[in-house]
This record gives sequence, structure tokens and C-alpha cells, in this order.
Amino acid sequence: MPHHDGEQNGRGLSFAKRIYLPRTIGLSVGSVCVAVALYPLPWMHWIWAMLVMHAWVWPHLAYQRARRSSNPYKAELQNMLGDSFAGGIWVALMGFSALPSVAILAMMAMQNIAANGLRLLWQGLLANLLGAVLGFVLFTPQIQLASTPEEIYACLPLLVIYPAFIGWMGYKVALKLSEHKHVLSRLSRTDSLTGLINHGTWKDLLQVEFTRSQTLNRACCVALIDIDHFKTINDRYGHIVGDSVLKALSQALRDNIRASDLAGRYGGDELCVILPNTDLDLAVGILERLRQIVENQVDALLPELRISLSIGVAPYEQHIVDAASWLNEADKALYGAKSTGRNRVVSAPCTRADFQGLALGV
Ligand code: GH3
Ligand code: MG
Repeated sequence: MPHHDGEQNGRGLSFAKRIYLPRTIGLSVGSVCVAVALYPLPWMHWIWAMLVMHAWVWPHLAYQRARRSSNPYKAELQNMLGDSFAGGIWVALMGFSALPSVAILAMMAMQNIAANGLRLLWQGLLANLLGAVLGFVLFTPQIQLASTPEEIYACLPLLVIYPAFIGWMGYKVALKLSEHKHVLSRLSRTDSLTGLINHGTWKDLLQVEFTRSQTLNRACCVALIDIDHFKTINDRYGHIVGDSVLKALSQALRDNIRASDLAGRYGGDELCVILPNTDLDLAVGILERLRQIVENQVDALLPELRISLSIGVAPYEQHIVDAASWLNEADKALYGAKSTGRNRVVSAPCTRADFQGLALGV
């Protein structure tokens, strides 16, 4: 809900829109209370005309006034204070008849606090008081605190309909907030380009899977997947094509794993996946299939563009002390895949020295 005058017009306008329907309903139902209380009193015709005007015409004028204002938010707050001021005058004209007076003042207070918190509540009450004093001084009504049975019945629709309506509006806002919370929370866990889990969240999940594997002594594998010579692809075809290569690879990865596997973007051209309840042979099979699929993928628009993957995979083993060491095993295996010619799946355990020797041909 907006809280200060410097609101942008867009938000101010939606504030005015949000007030429009409750005001229209509240004033039309509230005017019945006032009319029944005024009926036995000797008021002039123009007072009745004012009541009709306030209840049935003003809600639409108020909305148009806010809509056309350069600061709809401020204009709407003024409208609401105008309502409270007029409410005070009606209370005086009714001779302060207890039930209709309390009913309309309470409904206005509810609307004010729901729209802009305590500040508008206090300002509204002050406006009620000013209106009541002015009404009393100008019209010197006869004070009649006791409400008649007709007045009591006439207040019932207002007492039932208006709070229910405001409660329903509050419920709708709560639903929308909860939806937004879910969307934001999903976005904060997702990599925007690939739609995969982002680095930070994936690392947290790795920690969870590590602890689970440790406690249950269960098979689980972690793999790092890196596109070979991706820089060259970017240089040759541009970053837009590079981006779509990353997206296509992410889709291929998603298509080739189970729903329980956790695929993420480690960073740059490197993806990562946790394969729970999977032993090394099965993991290598899944990753080898992915490697072959990607190797054979041909883009209709760029048939000469071919992609290969280097993949390092490490199974959870009892001697691994923490999640970082486990990931390091996969990283060493990936280094192994890169240094022995790329376009392959290499599994841990292996040491960098193994591959340095291999790469140098010793
Ligand atoms: P290697 O076979 O050794 O992996 O070679 P490489 O060129 O793939 O290796 P390197 O990690 O040095 O290059 C990765 C490149 O990925 C560098 C960077 O420009 C590019 N890159 C990182 N993030 C993105 C991205 O979001 N979109 C695009 N198009 N390129 C990216
Ligand atoms: Mg790369």
C-alpha cells in the first residue's frame, strides 16, 4: 500500500481504483442509514439532494478527480478526508443518533485504516470531528442519542455488507501477495538465462545431498559439464547464438535426467548436476548419453555449428570429508576430460597429475 505523497502516478492511480468500488458500495449502503435517521426530522429538500449527491454521484466524481489529477494518490487521500468530513456533518444532521452515527463512523475508520494505515485513521477521525462540529453549529440539530427500531434495521445492511466486502478485498490482496512471494522466491533460485537452479542454490542442495549420502550411506553422483571451446563459438557466431547454445544444452540436460536429479548452472558455460540414488556406472551412462545427444544435435539455421561437452563425474565415497571436496573430485575429473582431448566423460577418482602426465604424453 502506498505510504507517501511522492508516489508515481501509476501507483497512485491504482490506489484510486482500489478505493473506487468500496466507496461506491459503502456510501450507497450507508446513505440508507442516514436517510432513515433523517426522515422524521424537519430538514429542507436541499439536504436530501446533498445526501443523494454524496451517496450516488460523488463516488464517480471522486474517482474522476483522482484520475485526472497530476498526483492521483494525494487527490485520493483528500477525497477520503472529504468523505470523513461529510460523514461528521451527517452525524450532526442525524442528531447524533447512536447506532447510525457509530456505524457510519466505524465504516469510514475501517476504510481509512485499510487504505493508508494509522495516519489516515487519525486524520479521518479529526475530519469527522470537524464535520460534526460544523454541522452542529450550522444546523443546530436536536440531539437524539437513542436510535429508533427503524434506524437499527436500516443500519444492518451497512454493518454486514461493508465489513464483509473489505474483508474480501483484504483476502484478495493476501492471495496476490502470496503468489508474488512464490514467484520471487522461485526467481531468486533460478538462473535467468537457462532456467536451471542458480549457483548459490545448487551449492546449498549439494550440501544437503552430501549430508544425506553421508548419513544414509547412499549412492549419489555429482557431475560438472562444460562446453568445449565455447569462447570460439561466441567469437565466431556472436553471444546471442552462444546464449541459445547454453539454453539448448540446459534443455537437453533437463530432458535426459529424472525429476529427482538437480541440474544447475555452475557459471559461464559450466552446468552441474546432482544425481541422487545413482551409482557411478549409471551416472556415467546417463552423462555419456547426454554427451552423444549434444554432439549429434544439428541446428537447422547453423548446420555447421557443432558442440561437444567435457564432463567430470564423482561418486559420493565415505572418505570424502565435505561437499566442497566432493565437488573438487568432479572438478578434477572435468579437468581430466579437458586435458585428454575434450568431448568425453571422465569419472573420479583421479588426480590432476594423472592427466598432466597424460596430456604431456609421459
Ligand atoms: P574449454 O574447452 O577449455 O572449456 O574452452 P572455453 O572457450 O569453453 O573456456 P572458457 O571457460 O575459457 O570460456 C567460457 C566462455 O563462456 C567465456 C565467456 O565469454 C563465455 N560465457 C560465459 N557466460 C556466458 C553467457 O551467459 N553467454 C554467452 N554467450 N557466453 C558466456
Ligand atoms: Mg568451456
